[in-house]
Amino acid sequence: MFGNLSDKFESALRKVSGKGKISEGNIAEAMEDVREALLEADVDYEIAEAFVGRVSQEAVGTEVLESVDPGQQIIQIVHEELVRLLGGEEAVKDDDPTGGLQAGGPADAIPRVSPGPTVVMVAGLQGSGKTTTCGKLAAALKKQGRSVTLGAADLQRPAAVTQLRVLSEQVGSDACPGTGEVFFHGEPDACAAYGEAVGVAVEVAKRALAAARAHKADVLILDTAGRLHLNDELMKELKRVERAVGPHQVLLVLDAMTGQDAVNSAEAFDKQLEIDGVVLTKFDSDTRGGAALSVREVTGKPIRFVGTGETLDALEGFHPRRIAGRILGMGDVVSLVEKAQAEVSEEEATRLQDKLAAGEMTMEDFLKQLKALRRMGSMKSLLGMLPGVGSQLKNLDLDEGRIDRTEAIINSMSTTERRKVKILDNSRRRRIAKGCGQEPADVSQLVKGFEMVSQMGQLMGGGGTGMMGKMKAL
Ligand code: GDP
Repeated sequence: MFGNLSDKFESALRKVSGKGKISEGNIAEAMEDVREALLEADVDYEIAEAFVGRVSQEAVGTEVLESVDPGQQIIQIVHEELVRLLGGEEAVKDDDPTGGLQAGGPADAIPRVSPGPTVVMVAGLQGSGKTTTCGKLAAALKKQGRSVTLGAADLQRPAAVTQLRVLSEQVGSDACPGTGEVFFHGEPDACAAYGEAVGVAVEVAKRALAAARAHKADVLILDTAGRLHLNDELMKELKRVERAVGPHQVLLVLDAMTGQDAVNSAEAFDKQLEIDGVVLTKFDSDTRGGAALSVREVTGKPIRFVGTGETLDALEGFHPRRIAGRILGMGDVVSLVEKAQAEVSEEEATRLQDKLAAGEMTMEDFLKQLKALRRMGSMKSLLGMLPGVGSQLKNLDLDEGRIDRTEAIINSMSTTERRKVKILDNSRRRRIAKGCGQEPADVSQLVKGFEMVSQMGQLMGGGGTGMMGKMKAL
């Protein structure tokens, strides 16, 4: 997402950045490129026009041309306008790492209500990722200790009820760590009856709410019917469900890959149902980003969350300021640090640093780190969060499988070998290579690299006299 847009923006802004003096002509030229970049990213024509108009106007109004670093000023103006276009500060507070799941404050996407449960109605077209999103939301709420009932009121797609049941079992199991309880209410037989009884979905929704109350769940997440296309029948059903359960939040799920179609359907949904926010799924895909950039302006409703993959943990809060930074190649260090913190605790990091300094780091520690790193996302996505790195990565052929192969080698080692790599002679190296389907040279390369890191760690640690010791003493 945003890769191309980011490149185009960077080259457009290069025309004005780094120059001591620029003319109105330079600005107009750069803005022409910015407009083109937005249109290529599938942003609505009027929105692109208005965006460029606002930036140009502000650039003139703030007397950018007279400033010390005019190029930098223009980038700043573009940055602020991008933040505004993406939803402004209030969509999700930038310092709210839970992406609005946290209680309290205007960013609270799913507020606590008393008496519970908070009812969240999830709507969207078929295939948009609605059911998957219900599961992801439940997983995120469970992590915060909130109990959730997942209600299956999508009786249009027969498999949806079973899918939601499976998801609720996955969220409830140990696979999704968290303290909240997860319940499920679904009636597979209701699907068969649907053709004859139009009000069945409404009844199922009401019973799901009753079940959530009986379970004393904090939140009811209600999956609702989708259709391949918007039509009156769908709207009628959704409106009746809405009236029956009185949701506190109506979240609309949109598939980012459908671009302007997603935005148009959002507008139509919002006219019929009072939606509170949008979940933009498939943010991990290689789409042009038009939906993300247009939906707020068209509907006036904020993007609350983005889906970044098919797994239950692939749901993130939508932070306009950070995304704008990513688009302009300023990086997103805050998200990177958050991801790292979620995987490795501070104590664990200190413990590891001490072990490294004392020359006691083992392959087991190394394996743990590799696993944590992999959970954080692909190498490209992580490096892309560093300032200035973004667009340079596009053509870089990163070997993403390298971590998998390294992990396979370590997995083929015995526990003793992992704790003491020094004992790895040639015959052991051959055996390990055979065990993981790689070459003995690959094993040797890993061992050599590992020993080098260990030595460096000791050198830097060196008790109180090494580099780390000195730094600690400061
Ligand atoms: P529904 O018909 O709206 O309930 O759609 P589903 O929840 O069944 O999702 C449709 C497909 O999209 C499934 O294959 C999901 O795994 C996939 N999907 C959902 N969200 C995401 C996402 O954020 N990223 C990616 N890559 N795939 C997603």
